[in-house]
Amino acid sequence: MLDVTKSPRRAAVIGSGFGGLSLAIRLQAAGIATTIFEQRDKPGGRAYVYEDNGFTFDGGPTVITDPSCLEDVYEAAGRRLSDYVDLISVSPFYRLLWSDGRQFDYVNEQTALDAQIAAFNPADVEGYRRFFAYSKAVFEEGYLKLGAVPFLNFSDMMKAGPQLAKLQAWRSVYSMVSSFIKDEHLREAFSFHSLLVGGNPFSTSSIYALIHALERKWGVFFPRGGTGALVRGMVKLFTDLGGTIHLSAKVDEIVVEGDRATGVRVGGEMRPFDLVASNADVVHTYAHLMRNCARGKAEGAKLARKRHSMSLFVIYFGANRTWDHLQHHTVLFGPRYRGLVDEIFKGPRLPDDFSLYLHAPTVTDKSLAPEGSTAFYVLSPVPHLGKAEIDWEVEGPKYRDRILGHLEQRLLPGLKESLVTTRILTPFGFRDELSAHLGSAFSVEPILTQSAWFRPHNRDDKIANLYFAGAGTHPGAGVPGVVGSAKATAGLILEDLGIAARSPA
Ligand SMILES: Cc1cc2nc3c(=O)[nH]c(=O)nc-3n(C[C@H](O)[C@H](O)[C@H](O)COP(=O)(O)OP(=O)(O)OC[C@H]3O[C@@H](n4cnc5c(N)ncnc54)[C@H](O)[C@@H]3O)c2cc1C
Repeated sequence: MLDVTKSPRRAAVIGSGFGGLSLAIRLQAAGIATTIFEQRDKPGGRAYVYEDNGFTFDGGPTVITDPSCLEDVYEAAGRRLSDYVDLISVSPFYRLLWSDGRQFDYVNEQTALDAQIAAFNPADVEGYRRFFAYSKAVFEEGYLKLGAVPFLNFSDMMKAGPQLAKLQAWRSVYSMVSSFIKDEHLREAFSFHSLLVGGNPFSTSSIYALIHALERKWGVFFPRGGTGALVRGMVKLFTDLGGTIHLSAKVDEIVVEGDRATGVRVGGEMRPFDLVASNADVVHTYAHLMRNCARGKAEGAKLARKRHSMSLFVIYFGANRTWDHLQHHTVLFGPRYRGLVDEIFKGPRLPDDFSLYLHAPTVTDKSLAPEGSTAFYVLSPVPHLGKAEIDWEVEGPKYRDRILGHLEQRLLPGLKESLVTTRILTPFGFRDELSAHLGSAFSVEPILTQSAWFRPHNRDDKIANLYFAGAGTHPGAGVPGVVGSAKATAGLILEDLGIAARSPA
């Protein structure tokens, strides 16, 4: 434990993703002088914002769920989320399209949802009800009870064990969904969600079926001004509280002396801190930032051997026209599901076919593009750099053209001639701009044997003032996940320092 009497309470947070920002706000609000170091020129991490030709493109998260976890961060600082950002409710949550022409609007209203399910298979309306009850049970256990608590000891895992066993957590999401629902399209509709946090529906624990209940409980939201507005709101809250953020400030080393982190080295300068928290990729943190100490070398090598989530190929593009039939969120399934997902997670090459998620934020907020125009991004899950040797410098532009051609033919007639701007993000970008191990988009893969206690811990086991928040630690990726991880980590830090969290105003 830290010796509070000797600690002037200065914390360094490496990285300004949602996990880093949430943690920094909680620490600053509790009276710990907190400094964020972010290597990029803008905050947000995977939620970086690109601005091209009058279009605003959110780089990553677009489906904002569980606003209560964000409200909780503001409340910890005695503020209100609504004073900083306006969250707009989105419906349908997603439009799902299959290559055989079938369509499913995934909505929250029960009667309308039942009608959508019945159109595929009337018997599955009852099956869905049982699936929903299951999803709610895992949500209660896996998210509400355990989503924001640190798993530091195996005994914590053992306590959760009986309930996880009862919920058949060893089964995959797809297997669980299939036990309730018979229609193959509907099985895909209710199992693809784990992909949104880097999990293969055929091998990720069925605990991740909780995402369905989570979406249904609060709905799906989009911040006015884009996800970037949410990032800006959090940075504003942090600096309003007196916190310091340095951009274009890449941390080169976490300085460790004995069993303590004594500071960070940035731009050749040693900056002393009483505690260090990393929101950066966990392998990068141990293997690179702690390369000069035995703990870093050992843990870095161990984590590098874990299974890592797939990467993503993303195209951000703007068109000088609109399409009437467009929804904000569309999933375009390809002809294969299991086979495709298998190749994405196992390689060894880029599959010929793809399943796509298309984001069209101007459907909800026209301010993100010039008048009469449409802003988009489309993403395709692809193998990470350890699974397929692809030269993305060469393949990226070709893959972009194939995907845009596919979109034009399937959903967006006239797309190519209306394109004003395009940019791509490949696994190389995840590796080089975000320091993500193997270019993984979601860090350590969320399988049962890499979850909870088996995931990198929120506090290092040996260096008592080194902490983690973000996708690589418990509970995992996704905005609610990393915000929950920051809550768990902040709780630990305050406990270690003997500080009580600020009570809500
Ligand atoms: C394309 C895409 C779409 C997504 N869509 C959704 C969605 O719709 N909904 C959802 O909930 N989730 C979504 N996710 C997942 C979600 O975005 C991430 O899990 C989450 O944002 C990760 O947050 P994090 O706190 O782990 O930090 P990250 O966002 O990974 O940020 C880490 C930060 O650390 C910085 N850093 C790394 N090394 C250093 C260093 N040495 N020095 C200084 N800084 C450093 C990086 O530059 C980065 O800014 C999506 C992800 C992607 C990639």
